[in-house]
Amino acid sequence: MRLQVLLLLTAAGCAVGRSLRKSADKKLLLISFDGFRWDYDQDVDTPNLDQLVVDGVKAKYITPPMLTMTSPSHFTTITGRWVEDHEVVHNMMFNTTTNLKVPHKQTLSRSEWWDTGVPPLWITAQNQGLKTASFFFPGGGANYSGQSVNRVVMEEAGFPDDNETEWQQNIDTVLSWFSQENFNLVTLYYGEPDNVGHAKGPDHPRRKEIIQQIDRTIGYLRTAIHRHQLTDSLDVIITSDHGMTTVKKRPLVDEIVLNKYLNLLKLASFEILDYGGFGVLTPRPGMEQEVFDALSMAPNLTVYKKHEMPASFHLGRSERLPPIVVIADLGFNLNSRFIVYVNKGDHGFHNHHMDMKTIFRAFGPSFKQNFLSEPFDSVHIYPLMCKLLQIQPAPHNGSLSVTEDMLRSGGTRGTGPTVWILLLSLLSRLTVP
Ligand SMILES: [Zn+2]
Repeated sequence: MRLQVLLLLTAAGCAVGRSLRKSADKKLLLISFDGFRWDYDQDVDTPNLDQLVVDGVKAKYITPPMLTMTSPSHFTTITGRWVEDHEVVHNMMFNTTTNLKVPHKQTLSRSEWWDTGVPPLWITAQNQGLKTASFFFPGGGANYSGQSVNRVVMEEAGFPDDNETEWQQNIDTVLSWFSQENFNLVTLYYGEPDNVGHAKGPDHPRRKEIIQQIDRTIGYLRTAIHRHQLTDSLDVIITSDHGMTTVKKRPLVDEIVLNKYLNLLKLASFEILDYGGFGVLTPRPGMEQEVFDALSMAPNLTVYKKHEMPASFHLGRSERLPPIVVIADLGFNLNSRFIVYVNKGDHGFHNHHMDMKTIFRAFGPSFKQNFLSEPFDSVHIYPLMCKLLQIQPAPHNGSLSVTEDMLRSGGTRGTGPTVWILLLSLLSRLTVP
């Protein structure tokens, strides 16, 4: 009997040891394919994405935050905060007083735009002893309270986004970080199918080719995971930031030209327009009502005073966002003065449109197989990632209850509280006189 008790205590000791090491053993790869609309795999052959449904988890679709734009949405995924809380309110860093507007690619390395007091997952994980890296991922190139992500690869300006060989090399690079250098969290970003969606439109054959290229890349990823012997230790989440819709042009529609409804120069001191379906304006002093009234008369858009936006948008409490926000009807571009807009596809529209919804897939040792999840908001990915990494999340707006059904045994693989309860109940039975 004593021997049995001793064995049980040894087992308990091992369990403690294991749970202490647990967090350091966790490996999570988060991959984002920019602008992957939720249904892009439905009109083209995607054997590898289809196999993922059998081998892992698929959500019917997910909803990005309002402000369906690359940097705001990615930062919601990596912080679990709504846009009004993390304050990355545009792809372009801007200053309404100085009229500064920094292009998207340059904004990616401007810490003052990203470091708003809301720590992204990389930083929170590093502060709990994990090793993290970002490969092209928006926000990964910034410093947060002076702290940088352990390893960062930034995309150079003018970098080709669609080179399949390089896509595969990037996979091998990040997998070697896991297998040879014991990284715990790596975020990997691809600029497609967003580019092709903008340039050609979501229905173009070229978009379908890119989806097949992504599918082949996922096939490559799975083979490479085996080759790097990460099959039993690496969890993978594949997602995106928003969808894409066809831009409506003449003669099918009367395109919006905002200057027809208000004299922009006279009434506004700052504007970001000509950027798809989402626009912002700072009225000159005392002109807010005039701007609002004028834009209220314009067809095919909705104008909001920032502080009167519906709470469900999770934008109204932002300090950075200018006082007037304009959201175009699906497919309309907010042209300011002239129609110089060349995009055939775009986003930035209200996140309730199905065309703005995006994808969620996951596989690996922590995930159930053949599990179809109901749709959910992308803000909930953050607590799921913290659970997978076994770290304490920073304050966030997500909820683990939305996603934990997709995890095997609620995500507590290996030793967890269940083991302790079992051991204690066995012990209590053994010590009965
Ligand atoms: Zn885009």
